[in-house]
Amino acid sequence: MPLIEVEGLTKKYEGPVYALNRASFAVEKGEWVAVMGPSGSGKSTLLNILGCLDAPTEGRVIVEGRDLAQLSPAERARFRAEKLGFIFQQHHLVPYLTAVENVMLAQYFHSMAEEGEAAEALRGAGLGDRLHHLPSQLSGGEQQRVCIARALINQPQLVLADEPTGNLDEVNQALVMSMIDKLHREGRTVVMVTHDPEIGRMAERRIELHHGRLTEISVAPAHEQELEDALLKVVWKAQEAGGKPRLPAAALPEFIANRATFLLMAQEGWLRIDAGHLMLTHDGQRRADYLMRRHRLAERLLFETFEMNEDRLHDNACKIEHGLSSEVTDKICTFLNHPRTCPHGDPIPRGVCCLGKSEIRN
Ligand code: ADP
Ligand code: MG
Repeated sequence: MPLIEVEGLTKKYEGPVYALNRASFAVEKGEWVAVMGPSGSGKSTLLNILGCLDAPTEGRVIVEGRDLAQLSPAERARFRAEKLGFIFQQHHLVPYLTAVENVMLAQYFHSMAEEGEAAEALRGAGLGDRLHHLPSQLSGGEQQRVCIARALINQPQLVLADEPTGNLDEVNQALVMSMIDKLHREGRTVVMVTHDPEIGRMAERRIELHHGRLTEISVAPAHEQELEDALLKVVWKAQEAGGKPRLPAAALPEFIANRATFLLMAQEGWLRIDAGHLMLTHDGQRRADYLMRRHRLAERLLFETFEMNEDRLHDNACKIEHGLSSEVTDKICTFLNHPRTCPHGDPIPRGVCCLGKSEIRN
């Protein structure tokens, strides 16, 4: 059973304006879904209805088998307090309360939390030294992180986020996205509204709204892992070409388009970004060596075994390589007699199976 089922959801205003027009979809437990679409397409309306802050004109929202419209006010309040974390674009912090008091209050959505828990949640958001600051003494990114800490204080199962990175600088964008990524990895269900394709790509699945209609449900083009792998290979190849361990980020055309992913990869310890330079960490180097080895061996296999034309090798290797485990990669290497180069003449990084086989062919 899906966690959320949305059936024929419609929200009609005077005019008539259809903020939502018979939208239907489902969200599985543990899924991370991005709701995309231009301004005015109905994204906030949808999220507010999912969060019981607004009611539809027609249609139903069913969460864990229960129709939200059938809940009594008390049950609705309990649903919000126990199951739901809401992250708004506007921070909605109480201006005369400190960060820690705002998290403790978590007013309206949650019950009171105790100060120790609230402080711990703020430390988790990297705000340990801002506990007693007022919102006006915090940057936009810090306020947003207070808002996230507040939304998470009751460990909600379902996180709803409306443009969580709107108006944030790049560093805070990356921090906020890594917090949401962590929630997802911990098993929470995340429904995130964004109009930014780069942010949307971090989700597992995207839903698109246009004029209140669900026009498209698309699987993210690059699964997160495959995108990271592709970017690691890009850095590896740029370093191979330049022979440099540190690479100016500006030299990588992919850097700008994939900035959020690069920043997340830095947090995960695959690369370091330092004063505009990129370099692979020890772990990143090992993973990239393995990825390049797998890719170039796949090319060599297609070239020798299927006599595939050289200019089709790269694309076809990209299609098959993700299915190759490291054992299978070593078997291919052995089968091909540990080749040193790919069919284009580029070196294939050595694997454990190549140890002691120095006489190997080119
Ligand atoms: P988004 O979040 O995608 O920018 P919204 O869900 O906020 O879009 O709004 C969708 C549409 O509904 C817009 O055309 C907006 O003008 C309209 N709308 C939203 N709230 C109201 C309201 N209270 N009264 C009338 N129209 C509204
Ligand atoms: Mg909106």
